[in-house]
Amino acid sequence: MLLRHTTDKITERSALTINPAKTCQPIGAMYAALGVHGCLPHSHGSQGCCSYHRTALTRHFKEPVMAATSSFTEGSSVFGGQANLLQAVNTIFTIYHPDIIAVHTTCLSETIGDDVNQIVQKTRDDKLVPPGKHVVHCNTPSYVGSHITGYSNMVTGFINYFPQRSGNKINQINIITGWVEPSDMRQIRHLAKSMGVKIVLLPDTSNVLDTPMTGKHNMFPKGGTTIPQMVSMGDSKSTIALGPFCAEDAAIKLENKCKVKFTTLELPIGLKATDRFITALSRASNVKVPDSITDDRGRLIDMITDMHKYLFGKRVALFGDPDTLTPLVEFLITLDMKPVYIVSGTPGKRFETAMDNILKPVVPEAKYLNGQRADMFLLHQWIKQEPVDLLIGNTYGKYIARDEDIPFVRLGFPILDRVGHSYFPTLGYKGGMHLVTNILGAIMDKMDREAAEEKFELTM
Ligand code: SF4
Repeated sequence: MLLRHTTDKITERSALTINPAKTCQPIGAMYAALGVHGCLPHSHGSQGCCSYHRTALTRHFKEPVMAATSSFTEGSSVFGGQANLLQAVNTIFTIYHPDIIAVHTTCLSETIGDDVNQIVQKTRDDKLVPPGKHVVHCNTPSYVGSHITGYSNMVTGFINYFPQRSGNKINQINIITGWVEPSDMRQIRHLAKSMGVKIVLLPDTSNVLDTPMTGKHNMFPKGGTTIPQMVSMGDSKSTIALGPFCAEDAAIKLENKCKVKFTTLELPIGLKATDRFITALSRASNVKVPDSITDDRGRLIDMITDMHKYLFGKRVALFGDPDTLTPLVEFLITLDMKPVYIVSGTPGKRFETAMDNILKPVVPEAKYLNGQRADMFLLHQWIKQEPVDLLIGNTYGKYIARDEDIPFVRLGFPILDRVGHSYFPTLGYKGGMHLVTNILGAIMDKMDREAAEEKFELTM
C-alpha cells in the first residue's frame, strides 16, 4: 500500500498540511494569461518557480506553455527585482513580440516587497513598452490562497487595464469564466452561439491549449480573448461571472469601473447549474432557448433516468476547486448519489455556506472542509473510517483510489496521467452526459471486475 501510513484515527492539526488539495497561486495567473490572445505570461521571481508552473500546465494540457521569468539571482533576492523586470520587458518585446506581457509575482518577489505596480509604471515611463503593446500585472503570493486565487487575480488584472466605457452600449454579454478546460470554454461559446447571443468570453484558452497539430510551432496561437474584445467589455449590456471564487472579483471590478451590472452563477456543471446559466443568458439577451439546447437537456435527463438504478445511494468523496465542487455536488444530489466527503484547499467562507445549503437538507451526515487543513490526508482518513463507492478529483487521487480499491473519476487540475480532459467538455448538458458516462464507467468496471462468474452480465 502506497499510503500505508494513513490511519483512520484523526489527530487535531493546527500547523501541518499533508498532500494539499490545491496548488500554487501563479499557476492560476499563468493559465488565465494564456487565455488572452498574444499574451506572454511573465513570472516575477526565480527561474525555478516559472519552470514549475510551466511544467504543471504542460503536463496537464500536453501542450507547450510559453512564459518568461525575471530570473532572480542572489543579488535580486536581496536588493529587489526591479532591474530584472525592466530588462525582461525590453528583451521580451524585442525578441518575442507579444501584444501583452502579463506579470505575476511569486513568493520570493512578494516576500522581499517588490512594488510591481510601480515597476510596471516605470516600464512605461522609461518607454520600454512599444506603442500598441501593454504590460499588465497582478500580485500572486503563494503563501495565501491557491491557484484559484491567482487565476482570479490575473483576470481582475486584465479588467483593471483594458475595458473602457465609451457611453455607447453594445448588444453583447460579458462572460467571465472560472477555471475550466479549453473544451469547456469552447462549449460556453457554442451554447451562446446556438442561442444567437453575442458574448465576450474572458479568458478563453480554447485554440491556445488544445491547438491542432500543424507541424509548426506558433508562439501565440490563434485563440484567446483579443484586446479589442476586452476593451469593449466596458460597453457590454451585462456580465455573467461563472464561478464565485474565480470570476466574481473581476466582475465587481468591471462594474465599479464601467458600470456594467453583473450576475454571479456557479459554473454550469450538471443539470440545474446549466439550467440557471441558460436562463440567465436567455434573459440577459432577451432571446428564446433554441430546440437544439432543449433537446440536449432532454437527452441528459433520459440518460440519468436510464442509469439511475446504478447511481442511487452511492457514496462519493470529492476534492478539488470550490467553483467546480459546488455545482458538482449539486449534480450528484440530482443523480441521487450521496456526496459524503468533500475537501478543497482553497480558503473562503462561502464554500462552507454553499455546502451547508446543498447538503444539510439531503445528506446531513456529509463532512466537508476547505482551507489549509482540508487536505487529501484528511479525506483519506474519512474514507478509512467509512468507505465510499466513488472518488472524484485530480490525478493525485489515484493513490487513495488504488489503496482503497475505489472507482476513480479524474476531474479538475492537474490531470497528469490521462488525456481527454482538455478536449471533452464537462460544462453544459453535453458535459453533464460526459460526466455521467465517466461516473458510470468507473462504477460498472468495478462491478464487472468483482462479479462472480455466474453473475457476470453481458447487458446492463
Ligand atoms: S516558491 Fe511560491 S511561487 Fe514559487 S513555486 Fe513555490 S509556492 Fe509557487
